[in-house]
Amino acid sequence: MATVILKKGRARPVLQHHPWIFSGAIARIEGEAQDGDVVVVRDAGGNFLARGTLNRRSQITVRLLTWDQDQAIDGDFWRARLAQAITGRRALAGDPATTAYRLVNAEADLLPGLIVDRYGDILVVQFLTLGMNVRKGEIVSLLAELARPRGIYERCDAEMRAKEGLSSQEGCLWGEEPPDLLQILENGLRFWVDVKRGQKTGFYLDQRENRRRAQVYCPGRTVLNAFAYTGGFAVYAAAVGAGQITNVDSSAEALDLAQRNMALNGCAARDDEFVRGDVFQVLRRYRVQGRFFDVVILDPPKFAHTQAQVKRAARGYKDINLLALQLLRPGGVLVTFSCSGQISTDLFQKIVFGASVDAGRDVQIIERLSQGPDHPVLLSFPESQYLKGLVCRVL
Ligand code: SAH
Repeated sequence: MATVILKKGRARPVLQHHPWIFSGAIARIEGEAQDGDVVVVRDAGGNFLARGTLNRRSQITVRLLTWDQDQAIDGDFWRARLAQAITGRRALAGDPATTAYRLVNAEADLLPGLIVDRYGDILVVQFLTLGMNVRKGEIVSLLAELARPRGIYERCDAEMRAKEGLSSQEGCLWGEEPPDLLQILENGLRFWVDVKRGQKTGFYLDQRENRRRAQVYCPGRTVLNAFAYTGGFAVYAAAVGAGQITNVDSSAEALDLAQRNMALNGCAARDDEFVRGDVFQVLRRYRVQGRFFDVVILDPPKFAHTQAQVKRAARGYKDINLLALQLLRPGGVLVTFSCSGQISTDLFQKIVFGASVDAGRDVQIIERLSQGPDHPVLLSFPESQYLKGLVCRVL
């Protein structure tokens, strides 16, 4: 087994169990190793630190798997790690009102680069690192054994795979191929999910609890559901008797499914709107028209993918939050999110504050939101905390 020797003074994060080693921390690699192989990591003095998988094509050159010198990376290791992740979801698995949730959350479950989402008896998996990708066969058969699905389907995140030198790959890996649309239950509500062509693995499971939180503010209120995707927040709002819901998204397919999801829950015969367009432009248009809402939900995609994009992303977040605040009636509620890991909770609050100053309105935070319990945050890996939300009331 080859050995990765770190530069002097670079062992601290590894000792604290941060799972990544960047190329800049490495002094040299001793011995022969293929990318994807397991390597031993040692400090500058030669002391054992950890084991992980190597990928010289990635800036994250080693993804750590264990910090225990006696722990081999073999079939038993992978079985134990997957079993631990599955056991951690037992509470969700036992809830008959929810059939879709994240089973494996990559680094946060000590399984770098592996995402597994359960949609009823179908598992949708993403192999985001080379180290995971070369073990696809082994992981898939262990998932089949431990999670007992009817089928396992692969989706890819092209952007993340490219950083690892991997090409795009999608398709059925095991068992039955899923239907074009499958049905899930979430907190007792029904949704059609397109696991083959939908965004990510098909549904934004990380927002499950937040959709329920936002529901509280909606009975009898008009709702602007910006970045609506397949209508997650809209179905929850309609279920508690919201007034008119205006859904805005740039994707026609997503809005189409949003409409079908409303019908699936018996909410078709309402006066809701499904507006295809750019949220930035549509909200500006509503401002010009003097249209107001009681509740505005902003759940945009990731604006910042790298540290260099943070400034620009911050402007984008400020822009939509300013528009949203201007569209709210007095006493109205803004439910606003950022899923950019690079934007901290603090920075996000400052951005919303900046928007309130420009809007000339006094705003209270009444709730702070985060990702659901099936998207755990690993303390040694703060990067796993990416979703933050604020529920604000405009005075
Ligand atoms: N709230 C949704 C998830 C939103 S994901 C839920 O609960 O399921 C983000 C959505 O924003 C995607 O559907 C994407 O199509 C849409 N989107 C991205 N950029 C946009 C833009 N500029 N204007 C409108 N929609 C956009």
